[in-house]
Amino acid sequence: MTSNGRPIYLDYQATTPTDPCVVEAMLPFFNQKFGNPHSRDHFYGWEAEDAVERARRQVAVLLGANPKEIIFTSGATESNVLALKGAAYSHREKKNRIVTTAIEHKCVLETCKRLEREGFEIVYVDVGKDGLVDPDKLGSALDERTVMVSVIGVHNEIGVIQPLVEIGALCREAGVYFHTDCAQGVGKIPLDVEAMKIDLLSLSGHKVYGPMGIGALYVRRRPRVRLEPLFDGGGQERGIRSGTLPVPLCVGLGLACEIAADKMVDEVSRLGRFRDRLLAGLRDRIADLQVNGDIEHRIPGNLNISFPGLQIADLMSSLEGLALSSGSACTSASVEPSYVLRALGLSDDLANASVRIGIGRFTTEDQVEQAIEMIAGEVERQRTGQSASQRVPAE
Ligand SMILES: *Cc1c(COP(=O)(O)O)cnc(C)c1O
Repeated sequence: MTSNGRPIYLDYQATTPTDPCVVEAMLPFFNQKFGNPHSRDHFYGWEAEDAVERARRQVAVLLGANPKEIIFTSGATESNVLALKGAAYSHREKKNRIVTTAIEHKCVLETCKRLEREGFEIVYVDVGKDGLVDPDKLGSALDERTVMVSVIGVHNEIGVIQPLVEIGALCREAGVYFHTDCAQGVGKIPLDVEAMKIDLLSLSGHKVYGPMGIGALYVRRRPRVRLEPLFDGGGQERGIRSGTLPVPLCVGLGLACEIAADKMVDEVSRLGRFRDRLLAGLRDRIADLQVNGDIEHRIPGNLNISFPGLQIADLMSSLEGLALSSGSACTSASVEPSYVLRALGLSDDLANASVRIGIGRFTTEDQVEQAIEMIAGEVERQRTGQSASQRVPAE
C-alpha cells in the first residue's frame, strides 16, 4: 500500500494518471473559455479555436507531422476503427485485403472480424516467440489487392516495439497504407512519421498522461490517404470526423504530448533502471520466472512475466496492495488465457501464470522495492503451499 492507503499503481499500460499540469491547463476551458471552436462569429469561438489549433500543433510535433494531418477523435479505439474501416471502405472497388497480426488490440481484431464478414480478406502474419513481427514475412503477404498493413507499434501487454522503419519501407514500396496503433508508443519512443513512412497512426490521451475520452489519428496528406468517415455531420476535422471538438480534452492532449516530448529521455532512463531492478530483484528469488516478449525491443515501463506452476488468480488475490494486471480475461466459468501470450506460443497454464507490471511517471524507487518484496514473498509462499490468508504472523 502507499502512504494514503491505496494500492501501489503498477498498471500504466491500462491507463495513466492525468498529469497535474495537464489538469490545470484544461480547467479554464470548461467554464471561462468555453466557446465552440467552430463558432466563426465571435471572440469565444476564436479563442477556443486558437486553443484547439495549438493543441493540434503540440500533437503534430511529437510525431514529426504537419498539424493539418492530425484528426482529433474520442480515443485510440475510434482512431483504429476509423483507420481500418475508413481505408477499407474508400478503396473497396480495387482493394480488399488487410494485413495485420494476431496480437493487435481487441478493437483492431474485432474490426477486422467485422470487415471479414463484409467480404474483406484479412491476413494475420505470425509473430515470433519474442512477439516481434518479421518484416520479410509481412512483406511476402502484400499484394496488389492489399489496401493496408496495420501493426501495433508498441504492445499494451508485452511492451514490445515493432520494427516500424522496416515495415514502413516495405509498405511504401508496395503502395500499401501503413497504419500503426501507437497508443502505447506515443511519448514513450521517438516517432517520426516521415522517417518511418507511417501513413496512419492512432494515439490515446489517457495512455500519455492526458485525459480519457480523447485521442487522435494521424492521416498523411502527401501522398494522400483517403478515408471514408465513420459517421456524417458538420464536416469538422477535414470532413473525416464530424462533431464539436471537446476543447478542454484537446488542450489536455496537446499539453500531455508536449510534456511527454520534454520528459521522454529522462523517463526512458529512469524507468529503464526501475524495470531492470524489478526484474533482477524478482529473478533473485524466483529463479525460473520467464519474461514474455523481447526484452531489448521494449518500452522500459513494461514487464510481463510468468511464474511456472502458479495460478495467477491465487497470486492476485493475495496481492491486493498492488494494482497489477493478470492479462487473462475472467469469464464466469473459467479463466481465459491471454490471446497475446498464446500467440507467442505459451501454453494455457503458463499464460494463466502471468502478470503484467506497468510502471510510469509517478512510480518511485521505494514502490519498486515494495513490489519486489510483495510479489516474490507471495510467490514463495504459494510455492510452499501457504497462502497469505493462512499465514501465521511472525513473532
Ligand atoms: C488503450 C489502447 C487502445 C484503446 O485506446 P482508448 O483511447 O482507450 O480507446 C488501443 N490500442 C492500444 C494498444 C491501447 O493500449
